[in-house]
Amino acid sequence: MVLNKNKLVIEICNHCGHDVSLGSGKFINRVIDFNDVLTRIKNKISFPKGDFICEECDINILKNERKNTCSYKTKTVLL
Ligand SMILES: [Zn+2]
Repeated sequence: MVLNKNKLVIEICNHCGHDVSLGSGKFINRVIDFNDVLTRIKNKISFPKGDFICEECDINILKNERKNTCSYKTKTVLL
């Protein structure tokens, strides 16, 4: 049963590759990524086999999205 469970879900962060399993310290705030492996490869994610995103990377993704929005606005102003 344990082997089947490990095959179904790979408990690493697909952005930084860190362990997010129970006892890793990143278990509680991990976010499950519902994209399949092919979608993750297309999105150029570093560890496409991981089924989770850790809290740190989740925060960084949000920050980057905001940064992109800001730089876009700056470019528009400069033009
Ligand atoms: Zn991470």
